Amino acid sequence: MKILKQLSESIGVSGAEVEVRDLILKLIKPHIDDIKTDTIGNIIATRKGTGESKLKVMLDAHMDEVGLMVIGHDSNGMLRVAAIGGIDDRILLGKRVLVGPKKLPGVIGAKPIHLLDNDEFESVVKIDALRVDIGAESKKSAEKKAPLGTRIAFDTRYADLGKMARGKAFDDRVGCAVLVHVLQSERLPFDLIGAFTVQEEVGVRGAKIAAYTVNPDLAVVLEGTIADDLPKEDDVSPVTKPGKGPALSIMDRSTIYDARLNRWLTETAELLNLSIQIKQPGIGGTDGSAIHLSREGIPTVAVSVPCRYIHSPAAMLNKRDYQNTIKLVRAALERLDGSILRR
Ligand SMILES: [Zn+2]
Repeated sequence: MKILKQLSESIGVSGAEVEVRDLILKLIKPHIDDIKTDTIGNIIATRKGTGESKLKVMLDAHMDEVGLMVIGHDSNGMLRVAAIGGIDDRILLGKRVLVGPKKLPGVIGAKPIHLLDNDEFESVVKIDALRVDIGAESKKSAEKKAPLGTRIAFDTRYADLGKMARGKAFDDRVGCAVLVHVLQSERLPFDLIGAFTVQEEVGVRGAKIAAYTVNPDLAVVLEGTIADDLPKEDDVSPVTKPGKGPALSIMDRSTIYDARLNRWLTETAELLNLSIQIKQPGIGGTDGSAIHLSREGIPTVAVSVPCRYIHSPAAMLNKRDYQNTIKLVRAALERLDGSILRR
């Protein structure tokens, strides 16, 4: 769990993934034969195969996380902000944040309850009415400490809760952690390319470039996905449920995943006697949306760890789901044979 903790506590709001990238480079370097950071900032890391198979397999995980960006400074030194990626305005008020590469501590200001009138108490404060307070006393000092474009991340430490773990940015640091573990494993008969991508949360931009560059025979997207197993008023089945195993995707908002590859993963899970679940179709999206449409089309599949409260300051996952995702991906790769792609 050490790698997941380190990755979760690193900061990489879209377009500013440098801290996460540096950590991943350090973690994988001893196990990789060829490594490069491309023009947009993706890591493309190759673990060469033994040469027995000509297949080229890409594993993808995105390094970026949702957060905020400084878009203005008030005369009293407060920062105006916009969301980077999908963030619910209702979860922002009163949260602690880290501002910029120096990680200046800040807070998203909230009017004390004592001063709220009824209307204010009942309504949601929209992000354009919120301010981030870093203790700057003037506009000038705020501009100096946090210039326009500065990224802001949630300030959350990882916590081990026994069966579960809590942390920020499990979407998609859990995918990055799975990928790091797989790249550290035994050499395979074919070349394995790890693509750690940037800017997924703002429109799967890094993956588009990575897929074109790598041009693999098939791709596996590793994700932290929506879990919503909490009690509901109506009897609605959850998207995924923590503790029920890695989640496979049949379809989401932008991809219909390759049925042959889903069969390959399902059979592998059966051989391992490991429980998996199907993510409720039609919800969310992954780097797969760019990958499967790249070049002449790349067969793509996704394996996700269910995470409660993604895109919030603190998500929650089941540690066994995470470990079983590593186990499933490793075992699937070990029994991968190009013939599964034959029609
Ligand atoms: Zn994600």
